Amino acid sequence: MKYLLLLSLVGYVVWRWREGQAGRSASAPPPNPEPPPQTIEMVACVYCGVHLPVLQALTARGVYFCSPAHQKAHGA
Ligand SMILES: [Zn+2]
Repeated sequence: MKYLLLLSLVGYVVWRWREGQAGRSASAPPPNPEPPPQTIEMVACVYCGVHLPVLQALTARGVYFCSPAHQKAHGA
């Protein structure tokens, strides 16, 4: 009878522990599906100094320009 009481107590503790584990995992925040933001390399127009993404910049002889007008004005 003593062992039956001890066994039921252990069973109760294990049951409570498993309930706690399930509750903790359910309350965990969901994983973020969004990818981290990409870093875009910025360059400065050599003529006016405005910064713009490298993919939008015009390049000539290793320098960057924000527009064809500034490229022409710089003499490139
Ligand atoms: Zn410019």
